[in-house]
Amino acid sequence: MKSTIRKSTYKAIYRLLDMVSPVDYDCGTLCGAACCTCGKDEDPDEMSLGIYLLPGEEKLFDGNEEWLDWTSEYAEDYDFPESWTGKVHFIRCKTPPVCPRKQRPLQCRFFPLEPHLTEDNELRLILNTVELPYKCPLITEKIQLTPSFIQATYTVWKRLITDPLIYDLVVQDSEDREYDGKNLIFVK
Ligand code: SF4
Ligand code: SF4
Repeated sequence: MKSTIRKSTYKAIYRLLDMVSPVDYDCGTLCGAACCTCGKDEDPDEMSLGIYLLPGEEKLFDGNEEWLDWTSEYAEDYDFPESWTGKVHFIRCKTPPVCPRKQRPLQCRFFPLEPHLTEDNELRLILNTVELPYKCPLITEKIQLTPSFIQATYTVWKRLITDPLIYDLVVQDSEDREYDGKNLIFVK
């Protein structure tokens, strides 16, 4: 898939998000890093849940990272926007919750926030509405997130949605949420 976001921009985005954290401590201590290790309790040989990379994000990896398993799937086979055609890259970390922190993908960096576009096409940030196979205390206990994390995440999404493919994804997810009548908790 053709991404309009350059590798250097993705690098700058990673650097910006390296400087912030959802809370001022390691929130993995609250839950045993549930978002990284989900599934491992039942089967210690299991790796973490698969994470898809945004279009072009794969430019930041060389595919030989020892801590990652890669798969590619066709976007048409999944519930991605119609404009998404061709390969989507999925990764799974082999040693969760341990990973090279500076290389963790965007989806790990944004959690528990998601972008949402209102009917007026305004970008907002909301708490994750995707059904999860684990409990995230940041969501269930509505723990206050750091303003720097919220602001950096918002800044990044403002940039990301200038890419037509990523914009289409956010539109689709936003429309699906509204259609499902999900209880949106706006953060910004
Ligand atoms: S983001 Fe939520 S689930 Fe993941 S480590 Fe932090 S508190 Fe736990
Ligand atoms: S890449 Fe790192 S932060 Fe993301 S799920 Fe794997 S271990 Fe957790």
